[in-house]
Amino acid sequence: MTMNDAGRRSAQPTAAAAPADALRAIEERHGAGLLKKRGANLLSGQGAWLTTTDGRRLLDFAVGHGVAALGHCHPHWVAAVQRQVAELTTCPDSFATPRRAELLQRLLPLLPGDFDRLFLCNSGTEAVEAALKFARGTSGRTGVVALNSGFHGRTLGALSATAKAQYRDPFLPLVPGFRHVSPGDPAAVEAAIDEQTACVILELVQGEGGVRPLERNLVERVRARCDATRALLVVDEVQTGFGRTGRLFACEHYGLRPDLLCLGKAIAGGLPMGALAFGPRVGTLPPSSHGTTFGGNPLVCAAALAVLDVFEREQLVARAERLGARARERLTNELSGPGSPLRELRGLGLMIGLELKFKVDGLLVRLLERGLVALAAGPNVLRLLPPLVTTDADLEHGLDLVVAALREEPAGGPG
Ligand SMILES: *Cc1c(COP(=O)(O)O)cnc(C)c1O
Repeated sequence: MTMNDAGRRSAQPTAAAAPADALRAIEERHGAGLLKKRGANLLSGQGAWLTTTDGRRLLDFAVGHGVAALGHCHPHWVAAVQRQVAELTTCPDSFATPRRAELLQRLLPLLPGDFDRLFLCNSGTEAVEAALKFARGTSGRTGVVALNSGFHGRTLGALSATAKAQYRDPFLPLVPGFRHVSPGDPAAVEAAIDEQTACVILELVQGEGGVRPLERNLVERVRARCDATRALLVVDEVQTGFGRTGRLFACEHYGLRPDLLCLGKAIAGGLPMGALAFGPRVGTLPPSSHGTTFGGNPLVCAAALAVLDVFEREQLVARAERLGARARERLTNELSGPGSPLRELRGLGLMIGLELKFKVDGLLVRLLERGLVALAAGPNVLRLLPPLVTTDADLEHGLDLVVAALREEPAGGPG
């Protein structure tokens, strides 16, 4: 292991500075053991860059599955969080508090639909749970229609909406009343929605399912069928929201106005937060029939407000659109032709999926060795989620690494 000067200076006599293998061994032995550790231990971050415990710098095109849209430790965000952490961090929903009121007022007008209420919670899966409870509890219906290869989270309700057998099978039976339909068969999707359907739930770009944008025709037919049957339409923008797709919300690409909107990941720039937006079509639940201890606390609200500030000041949505177009142009130009490792390039804005002709695991390891953190989205899709603040030069550098690593791959390899 090499250790540069910055790494030596920041070394502390704590677990964080233990040799890389020892650190990993502690987590492997005592963590829940649900994910294999990757080959770097992360110590700090600044913008699009991470520093490992042994002083290596990594360009981060994953940012915690899209959480750190502003990059790591944006100075405006850090200052807002530091101010708030010294003022008030916990305040139950039974008391009003300035940061929360401010966030409700500022966020609602930015959302794509007729929304006048937000339920604030702590994660994407909780936003989905809340959507299911509001849809069922206000409609008196119990049916839910979801799509194959959709991902909505891992608590038992959200998991019931999630399609993948690997996530579901250990926990069967799940909540009754859920049906999964192929997004490639709009007629079947329409037929699944009827007068028993409380809600339909969609990701407009399926993230975990392989970075797959839905067809506009499907989305329009679902909206119309929901209107005809009075089923509620839930859009899960946990991953696509907050500029990721080159619009503030992916709904804008489709001209879509959902009845409920699930938010998470990037909403508070790195602190745990989720939110469900809804309006008069949904109505409210009886008092105390849903709630959360930490939801909408002043600390995460201050963080979310700082995120909105930075989006405005740095015009991050337009930036995501421009950088995304540049990435697509380069990847198309440099990875096409005979012997190309690429089966299909998908995505919107800075949500980029490269479906490869082979399995992606080995490529992720080699990219990390070259200094780039990237993600998978299924067995053979490479997913890139660069922070929206990525500089032009860093984008080019990251794409250089991707192209070089892919050109080295045996295109006819396994998978
Ligand atoms: C990540 C994700 C979730 C779950 O969010 P958590 O914060 O991990 O609970 C739900 N829906 C989508 C589309 C996601 O990408």
